[in-house]
Amino acid sequence: MNIHEYQAKAVLAEFGVPVPRGIPAFSVEEAVRAAEQLGGPVWVVKAQIHAGGRGKAGGVKVVKSINDLRKEAERILGATLVTHQTGPRGKVVHRLYVEEGSAIEREFYLSALVDRATSRIAFVVSTEGGMDIEEVAHSHPEKIVTFSIDPATGVMPFHGRRVAKALGLSNDLAKQAESLVAKLYAAFVAKDMSLLEVNPLVVTKSGQLVCLDAKIGFDSNALYRRADIVGLRDLTEEDEKEIEASNHDLNYIALDGTIGCMVNGAGLAMATMDIIKLYGATPANFLDVGGGATKEKVTAAFKIITADPSVKGILVNIFGGIMRCDVIAEGVVAAVKEVGLKVPLIVRLEGTNVELGKKIITDSKLNVIPADDLDDAAQKIVKAVKEAA
Ligand code: ADP
Ligand code: MG
Repeated sequence: MNIHEYQAKAVLAEFGVPVPRGIPAFSVEEAVRAAEQLGGPVWVVKAQIHAGGRGKAGGVKVVKSINDLRKEAERILGATLVTHQTGPRGKVVHRLYVEEGSAIEREFYLSALVDRATSRIAFVVSTEGGMDIEEVAHSHPEKIVTFSIDPATGVMPFHGRRVAKALGLSNDLAKQAESLVAKLYAAFVAKDMSLLEVNPLVVTKSGQLVCLDAKIGFDSNALYRRADIVGLRDLTEEDEKEIEASNHDLNYIALDGTIGCMVNGAGLAMATMDIIKLYGATPANFLDVGGGATKEKVTAAFKIITADPSVKGILVNIFGGIMRCDVIAEGVVAAVKEVGLKVPLIVRLEGTNVELGKKIITDSKLNVIPADDLDDAAQKIVKAVKEAA
């Protein structure tokens, strides 16, 4: 689960992390009042969307008068920002953050994340702040320093020194870096984060290390014990299909392809997406209906898939073990009766109650193309979608 920059900064501030003073605003008037309260003389108006790259897209503006602030707030609020992280459709700005302007001397990159290879929290730091870290990793990998923290010891002073050295900081700034790493690590662990990215981390002209931007992602599996974090969720930022899927406890991820997939088991779902790509098309989603899915759950899943206008064909791939093929068949038939079927549908069923499942589909007189195995199913759906296009 992701949160907005202003929320992330508030979470970090709880742990004593240095962030600029700022006030969120939901209207232009609120933005003006926020600016008056902060006092100036320099403010920054920042679009709050769950995506980075706002600066380059015109969503972050430094202003020096309340008049200019009002103008920028009017321009940004309600506008659609297209950044390299939003996709071509962009995101509508519903919230602003008005922040005091910092006098920046140097910009760095710092992030912390769960490194699955070492099963530890790893830090990534670079002197190349404010820009795309992926680009730095690609063209100047030597400018990126990473290390992981042993959970048994937690952050040690040498970790802080490592960051200071990587960023070329000495004396008091090195001390600030040490303290910052310890605070960020404490926040990361205490709040069950999965990603914490500060880009840029800056040194101000007055010699302070400050987090000028903050992005936090939380581990969804730990949200049950983080009511405070769940309260920060902004549903308008999330994919409607994914919200609907989470209401039905479905493991669904929206993707940008054309073939909707309904599969049981995460591994089989991944294999299904791979084989669709192998035969030249792209999946519209990842969906694992799980082992104990009911007819209602399958119906809900099928509806979510068909509601996606980019879906040009559907592949149902079920290997019934705990999941029974007849339950899947009943769910598919029920959903099609309710919402209709405007695209080709391939159903591959195998395993428990497969004969019964196939009979339910045949008896329903639905326009289903049967398939024998995964390879056959993938080729058939790719072909059907190409022919329909
Ligand atoms: P994004 O990463 O989405 O582009 P940032 O918050 O990183 O948004 O802002 C983009 C740039 O705007 C920063 O790299 C920094 O140069 C500048 N900026 C952001 N916040 C402030 C601030 N409070 N004071 C001065 N400059 C800022
Ligand atoms: Mg940034």
